[in-house]
Amino acid sequence: MKSCGVSLATAAAAAAAFGDEEKKMAAGKASGESEEASPSLTAEEREALGGLDSRLFGFVRFHEDGARTKALLGKAVRCYESLILKAEGKVESDFFCQLGHFNLLLEDYPKALSAYQRYYSLQSDYWKNAAFLYGLGLVYFHYNAFQWAIKAFQEVLYVDPSFCRAKEIHLRLGLMFKVNTDYESSLKHFQLALVDCNPCTLSNAEIQFHIAHLYETQRKYHSAKEAYEQLLQTENLSAQVKATVLQQLGWMHHTVDLLGDKATKESYAIQYLQKSLEADPNSGQSWYFLGRLKRTLKAGYLQNITQLLTCCAVFMAPCLEGLHKGQSSHLAGPNGERPLSSTGPSQHLQAAGSGIQNQNGHPTLPSNSVTQGAALNHLSSHTATSGGQQGITLTKESKPSGNTSMVPETSRHAGETPNSAASVEGLPNHVHQVTADAVCSPSHGDSKSPGLLSSDNPQLSALLMGKANNNVGTGTCDKVNNIHPAVHTKTDNSVASSPSSAISTATPSPKSTEQTTTNSVTSLNSPHSGLHTINGEGMEESQSPMKTDLLLISHKPSPQIIPSMSVSIYPSSAEVLKACRNLGKNGLSNSSILLDKCPPPRPPSSPYPPLPKDKLNPPTPSIYLENKRDAFFPPLHQFCTNPNNPVTVIRGLAGALKLDLGLFSTKTLVEANNEHMVEVRTQLLQPADENWDPTGTKKIWHCESNRSHTTIAKYAQYQASSFQESLREENEKRSHHKDHSDSESTSSDNSGRRRKGPFKTIKFGTNIDLSDDKKWKLQLHELTKLPAFVRVVSAGNLLSHVGHTILGMNTVQLYMKVPGSRTPGHQENNNFCSVNINIGPGDCEWFVVPEGYWGVLNDFCEKNNLNFLMGSWWPNLEDLYEANVPVYRFIQRPGDLVWINAGTVHWVQAIGWCNNIAWNVGPLTACQYKLAVERYEWNKLQSVKSIVPMVHLSWNMARNIKVSDPKLFEMIKYCLLRTLKQCQTLREALTAAGKEIIWHGRTKEEPAHYCSICEVEVFDLLFVTNESNSRKTYIVHCQDCARKTSGNLENFVVLEQYKMEDLMQVYDQFTLAPPLPSSSS
Ligand SMILES: [Zn+2]
Repeated sequence: MKSCGVSLATAAAAAAAFGDEEKKMAAGKASGESEEASPSLTAEEREALGGLDSRLFGFVRFHEDGARTKALLGKAVRCYESLILKAEGKVESDFFCQLGHFNLLLEDYPKALSAYQRYYSLQSDYWKNAAFLYGLGLVYFHYNAFQWAIKAFQEVLYVDPSFCRAKEIHLRLGLMFKVNTDYESSLKHFQLALVDCNPCTLSNAEIQFHIAHLYETQRKYHSAKEAYEQLLQTENLSAQVKATVLQQLGWMHHTVDLLGDKATKESYAIQYLQKSLEADPNSGQSWYFLGRLKRTLKAGYLQNITQLLTCCAVFMAPCLEGLHKGQSSHLAGPNGERPLSSTGPSQHLQAAGSGIQNQNGHPTLPSNSVTQGAALNHLSSHTATSGGQQGITLTKESKPSGNTSMVPETSRHAGETPNSAASVEGLPNHVHQVTADAVCSPSHGDSKSPGLLSSDNPQLSALLMGKANNNVGTGTCDKVNNIHPAVHTKTDNSVASSPSSAISTATPSPKSTEQTTTNSVTSLNSPHSGLHTINGEGMEESQSPMKTDLLLISHKPSPQIIPSMSVSIYPSSAEVLKACRNLGKNGLSNSSILLDKCPPPRPPSSPYPPLPKDKLNPPTPSIYLENKRDAFFPPLHQFCTNPNNPVTVIRGLAGALKLDLGLFSTKTLVEANNEHMVEVRTQLLQPADENWDPTGTKKIWHCESNRSHTTIAKYAQYQASSFQESLREENEKRSHHKDHSDSESTSSDNSGRRRKGPFKTIKFGTNIDLSDDKKWKLQLHELTKLPAFVRVVSAGNLLSHVGHTILGMNTVQLYMKVPGSRTPGHQENNNFCSVNINIGPGDCEWFVVPEGYWGVLNDFCEKNNLNFLMGSWWPNLEDLYEANVPVYRFIQRPGDLVWINAGTVHWVQAIGWCNNIAWNVGPLTACQYKLAVERYEWNKLQSVKSIVPMVHLSWNMARNIKVSDPKLFEMIKYCLLRTLKQCQTLREALTAAGKEIIWHGRTKEEPAHYCSICEVEVFDLLFVTNESNSRKTYIVHCQDCARKTSGNLENFVVLEQYKMEDLMQVYDQFTLAPPLPSSSS
């Protein structure tokens, strides 16, 4: 698995497959049929071929000594094809995989795609084959089918984190996320590529160039300038990179106001361009820009970027022609996604430039578009009929938002409009024209968008392998899809043409039946309690919490990714360790804490059958409390954690418990700690439940929310003055209204056709940390009056067993709001539950979507080029309605507690001026644990940090908690089993390699560890650089990242945190506890 060159195992397997095939054919066909017509391969050739697969892509140089390889590959393809023909397609699946690899190496993409597709349809556990996924990803990448390429590449790294082309994958993920305007993910992957010292088709200088250009694209000009200048210091910088860097610097000085006064800037610009020409005298673009620039200056008029862009677009136009002739409609992807965004100039640039496609010294001119289209069509029709993959189990994932608060990390796309080019109307088969128009039209004003800026410079684009320009194409393609619903519907069939999407749509979720029964109980008053259940599943007083849980869980599809074994089959720790002595040497080094044999996690498809339209606005489960006894009535806990209730509003909680909410009022906060830090999100004040682009022309999902910081005192001042200003406006309006009551009625027309913007900006004070119990003693003490299940700390709260602070999760955070303050859509970190109390005086409005629909929201985010986990998005309610997604909507008044159940997607806006407090809790239920673990795995696949260290937590649970729910017990035990095996396997591998393991132990309350490079949780065996070890800073790496920077680990020490005997003892002593007698919370 680890070696990239000739793998003997692969070679043997391929040869065997080949041999088997011949035998099978001989046996299967009527006797007498001979093979004399087909070309045949010698044993030597077969062996040589066995070592050739997708991992050599970009490393076979046909124009040097590789001519023989090329001939061999060609011959192999002919042989395989003829055999397949003879066998009427009935050959081993591996055969197709090999054929795919050979065609890929020959850069025959349509045939590679077709062969891979056959393999995919025949091989149900195709996902175990990292080389296949990688090859498929490369083909998708070639076709600019970025959504699919991203999925394939992410799955490679998930099934094999030590994959030898991880660097190449990170590089390409970086490029694709950049095109998709997901800049944070892009930067992360470029950086992951940079730390890896394995070979890759781009040099580190080129990767650094991409990082610098990424800053430029985001209009972080100072960072960009710094990064470019730093790059110029690199030793042995290639002439081409140097020329391009200088050209970028010249260009930035010409166009960017931030970089000094005009005269200085222009003179710098000319100097840089001249230096660029010195570095690479053949750079047509630098000559061109320089000439352009000089003439501009001479003519003395202000040349604007758009005009220059026009010329760039003209430059590219001829090359675009070939590509887009009438093909884009076929390229529209499955699910109406925008996967094949090959509309942009990128294809051209891929061919013309110095990019990856080009690395094997074999510049590909854009292959004939008809061929490309045909290939993809073929693919979709093929897969539509091959149902082989339908049996694959769906792993249902839930995902947390990536930060520690209820407010998700806001993306810092400083006000860009990602699809700016999309506003140009165009027909799908005239995409090239549309693109050109978007760029050329001087009146368009789009020149300010980073998307277009990044296409401003053809030579740059060449270096970027043309990907930069895809911003244009991407947007246009979106438009194309959007304006042609017919195309959408058509291509829905081609869902199956993507392995992953085929799977995510194939299996109907049994959950949908639950959905329809949710809230069917309209009123269930307990005679003793005085609790009034307004709607939602009723409480059953007599049931023990455990019984209820079991009952409810049995409704759910059993979590496929967690084995439903009976308790007895868990071996003792000694048996586990004995068994794994022989494991892990050749197997996948998947560090998943779930089953060995489970496919990478995928978002769930939309629950089936779809809810009827009249069920899409369900009433919100609500409970009215009258007194303290109500609040402590045990079934309240069950009601809230019932998976059928995505959200519960507990009305009047503060009143019933006589909580002093005044402790959290702005006045008290200022008196208590006026200098305390407040994170600020600057947002646009949007109309009601809608989210418009800054100009107010169209509804979008991207929600602007830029981060800065202030103090409680200053925010308090802002909050108060905002209130006073509003009073003043209200008074003015009232008097105005008296005078002009007629005109008023027309101007309040809300038809949505008129422009909404421009919008006022507002500030939202968020994520205020109240963890310090000295500073916030009174406040925190007040919250201990709450019933145990919603308390910040309690024995039944998983987050109290983590053993260390997770800010905002097992500590309290405060939010200070003015009307319109928005918490964008998200699930909580690792799908934990959350508790939110409105302090008042104003109200908040909540929007809630059940957990089972997160896959649908994830799709919407993808379509809108937003990162579901880390991005800032506000769902368009019309889109959700169209997609049959139910949305609970309700007002939270002062004193109301909102319980967000595990995995529930939600977004919130303030209606009035108010403060809120919030934290997370983890009920001890199978459902919570399962969703947390699923999200843990999904985060890993998405390269997002899991804020809750589930492995660490699981071991703590095993130490501290008695579990009587068999389902929950099994899942925890299984996690322990997996990690125990991993620790042992890793220990043995290290020992065998002569690597010393140094005992380190743990201090009390030592936080769980994460890899400082990839942010995956690292348990027990920590890889620490020698330097950091001697400084005692202990910068932790995971094994894979350590090996990427130091192949034989010579730069690392391995520190051990637990004794194996200790872990074995914990594992063995963790047994299913007898059911509790019917007890209360
Ligand atoms: Zn790592």
